[in-house]
Amino acid sequence: MTSSQSRDFRLATLNILEDFTGEKLRLEETQRALLNLLEDFDLEKTKVQKARDVLEDRVAERTTELTQANARLQAALADVRRSNEELEQFAYVASHDLQEPLRMVSSYTQLLARHFGDELDDDAGKYMSYAVDGAKRMQQLIEGLLAYSRVGTRGKPLEVTDSHSMLEEALRNLAASVEESGAVVTSDDLPAVRADSTQLVQVFQNLVGNAVKFRKPDVPPRIHVSAGHEPAAEAAAEWIFSVHDNGIGIDPRYADRIFAIFQRLHARDEYPGAGIGLALCKHIVERHGGRIWFESKPGEGSTFCFTLPD
Ligand code: ADP
Repeated sequence: MTSSQSRDFRLATLNILEDFTGEKLRLEETQRALLNLLEDFDLEKTKVQKARDVLEDRVAERTTELTQANARLQAALADVRRSNEELEQFAYVASHDLQEPLRMVSSYTQLLARHFGDELDDDAGKYMSYAVDGAKRMQQLIEGLLAYSRVGTRGKPLEVTDSHSMLEEALRNLAASVEESGAVVTSDDLPAVRADSTQLVQVFQNLVGNAVKFRKPDVPPRIHVSAGHEPAAEAAAEWIFSVHDNGIGIDPRYADRIFAIFQRLHARDEYPGAGIGLALCKHIVERHGGRIWFESKPGEGSTFCFTLPD
């Protein structure tokens, strides 16, 4: 190696050593930065862990509180259900046992009116007819109460039921009033649902019966029964049945009132009835896990809708 070559070699070596020292310093700096980062990271980890522990404690506390609240709610619900059942049982026994003496009062006042009606003066005749009417009305009310209390106490288990056949049975029971009023009742194909068949017949019979009864004078009733699903996806789990009529309609402000037991919007000489039909429908539909409502404008017909789980 010449002397100039050896100088170049030394210079190159010195350059490399300089670069190497620079790299080493940078590496040491990076290492320190990394260590600092790791320290920070450990610190953050401890903080996160602590926050997580606090959160877990809170969730556990809340879960216990919610579980206890839920248990209290279930107990209260069970109490309400029990007292409802007791009340229904009481109404059933009372109305059942009242029927017999009332039948006696009713038939003997009718007998008195028939046998001695001619011998009574005007006032006595009037009082007698009031007594006969009163007894008949009371019989109607008691029969209504008995039917209402039977929904819960004497209901059959729910089974897959062809609702179309139930509508047909209801229409057979209504044949006389349908024919007499000239009503035309049409229906879509109705689905199979889980139901107490006797009670489903009752619902159709009361709704179609009302559609016939509350008709406009001189306008033959047109009634259509259909079933479908709500377009919203979460509502697809239920069937919505509707009974549409072209009758006298109802003011929507009576939305709650007409479903209450013994509540009516008309005088008895205007439209006969005891105000039990819709209360019975509501009780039956709710026993099946459904809802009932109506859409109407006075003078423009009504649509009664009820849902049943699909
Ligand atoms: P009722 O038929 O014995 O009066 P309901 O409980 O069946 O008893 O009906 C309660 C009230 O709701 C009726 O008195 C009537 O005013 C109103 N209503 C029920 N159905 C209809 C209908 N389809 N059109 C108009 N009004 C109706």
